[in-house]
Amino acid sequence: MKKVALFAGSFDPLTNGHIDTIQRGLRVFDEIIVAVSTNTSKKSLFNGEERFELIQSVLKDLTSVKVVKHSGGLTVDMAKDYHCHALLRGVRNVKDFEYEESIALLNKTQHPELETVILMASAEYRFLSSSLIKEVAMFGGDVSKLLPPAINQAVIEKYKQ
Ligand code: ADP
Repeated sequence: MKKVALFAGSFDPLTNGHIDTIQRGLRVFDEIIVAVSTNTSKKSLFNGEERFELIQSVLKDLTSVKVVKHSGGLTVDMAKDYHCHALLRGVRNVKDFEYEESIALLNKTQHPELETVILMASAEYRFLSSSLIKEVAMFGGDVSKLLPPAINQAVIEKYKQ
């Protein structure tokens, strides 16, 4: 049976750390569905549509990865709809762990059969977060080593506006 995982997030923007988690996730799962949250209540740099399109184009060569828009409902319900066996998450540090642990336990109350599989962030990406990228890029800092080229370009253009 094909093992499918749902990797949900806001990805504002998608970083090399997220891509690393997706690529490593593909060693464990046959397919990963990346669900891009289009929730606009969180102040985001890119709107949902922009993020969805950017991520789709950046990940287009990963044949076992499908990019979809988050339903806006519960992630566990979405996982069920897409016949996923697990939720994929990444953790960088203790703060992430505490957050992910609560979410994973809460999700179990909603959908007990669905597992959460957490990958430890690779050492070189442990410091990397979308919010820190924005803080540096906002002041013209070079984040090109931390983002896929198309996303880096989009970030530069966004801050020019
Ligand atoms: P959310 O809004 O759900 O926190 P994010 O886009 O910030 O969405 O993150 C999605 C997932 O990717 C989370 O599990 C997060 O811990 C993980 N993640 C974020 N940055 C990294 C990184 N540098 N390395 C590995 N995993 C990461």
